[in-house]
Amino acid sequence: MSTNTSAKAIFTRRESDARSYCRGFDTVFTSASGSQMTAQDGQQYIDFLAGCSSLNYGHNNPDMKAALIDHLQSDGLAHGLDMHTNTKGAFLEAFEQLILRPRDMDHKVMFTGPTGANAVEAAMKIARKATGRTNVIAFTNGFHGVTQGALAATGNSYHRGGAGVSLNNVTRMPFDGYMGQSCDTSELLETMLNDRSSGLDAPAAILLETVQGEGGLNAASGEWLQRIAKLAKDAGALLIVDDIQAGCGRTGQFFSFESMGITPDIVTLAKSISGFGLPMGLVLVKPEFDVMGPAEHNGTFRGNTHAFVTARVSIETFWADTAFEKDIARRAVIVEKGLNTIADMVPGARIKGRSMMRGVDVGCGELASKICRRAFQNGLIIETSGAEDQVVKILAPLTTPDAVLQDGLNILIGAAQDVLGAQKMAAE
Ligand SMILES: *Cc1c(COP(=O)(O)O)cnc(C)c1O
Repeated sequence: MSTNTSAKAIFTRRESDARSYCRGFDTVFTSASGSQMTAQDGQQYIDFLAGCSSLNYGHNNPDMKAALIDHLQSDGLAHGLDMHTNTKGAFLEAFEQLILRPRDMDHKVMFTGPTGANAVEAAMKIARKATGRTNVIAFTNGFHGVTQGALAATGNSYHRGGAGVSLNNVTRMPFDGYMGQSCDTSELLETMLNDRSSGLDAPAAILLETVQGEGGLNAASGEWLQRIAKLAKDAGALLIVDDIQAGCGRTGQFFSFESMGITPDIVTLAKSISGFGLPMGLVLVKPEFDVMGPAEHNGTFRGNTHAFVTARVSIETFWADTAFEKDIARRAVIVEKGLNTIADMVPGARIKGRSMMRGVDVGCGELASKICRRAFQNGLIIETSGAEDQVVKILAPLTTPDAVLQDGLNILIGAAQDVLGAQKMAAE
């Protein structure tokens, strides 16, 4: 224990107060494999956070790791600006053949700086340039990153406050379900778009997540998404789906919008697109809106050569046939069952999200974080989400073996029982 304490001293002494996840998971991690992480003190953890969905294929996938080691051994490029490289070419070939063509998407691939926020910045700039308009419609509880443009589209007041300047050129509208199930919020948007005195400036884009990752796992219905897509088209605005967290299989298929009956004009991807947890971001854009000039959205690290290697392997390994989708669907049922057990313990609790992007809204941030803290003590890494952090959120690697998934759920259920039991005792 004392070695662990001294190993942690450097972080409190020298690392900025801006550090975050390390506060909830206060240990020093040394290795990780599949769905398991190991700390310096020998404690093992099941990972239900997966780098906020950056590790959909688990930690250190052996095939990706071997390909990356091979690339390093043979002096493959570590950095190449955005020059043609064999690794970029191979990634694009695989992505075209196994992801875009089967889904009838003729989108161009634009590599941005290697973060989600940078991909969102690029997407908004493309839409503004393509339409000559400035306003972007974004939604309540949306999260799109913390650089200034992306932050303007983000709802969370804590993150917005960090900007230190006014955040402009975005109009916020209520997401699906925001006003309760009886209110169709797309009707409000439609009315305002069609009223020249609504005060709503003509939008360059409508930007949304189909399942709001940070905003509490609010899942939009297919009908709502289809209506929003039509409104965008009628208004001459581009539909941008931010699939940074919900994409790469998290919601059951490669893209979160695949079964929703929409094809976005622009899609942003980051987080799990490299497959291995390496930094990588990109924008998919329909050819007619591919309007950025050479280097107009410049960046030294556009595309990440090492990430191209692992990203290609992830596509070839998991998306060449439907076996992985079936695994995800089966695991999603296991997760749902586990979450239902917790929902049954907490009056008013609700299951949120879709497929392997799921959680339980326990109605109160304090309760949710107590459950997560207790789970961590018992060997499970799990986080909260939502406006009040009231949702216990499961983002297990999609490759988690069923038995490990069940073990993790059992820890979570046990943690909920412990916390609720202690609360009941305190109340008596
Ligand atoms: C994480 C996330 C981002 C920001 O990605 P970063 O790599 O953290 O900049 C943007 N949009 C969504 C939906 C996200 O989940």
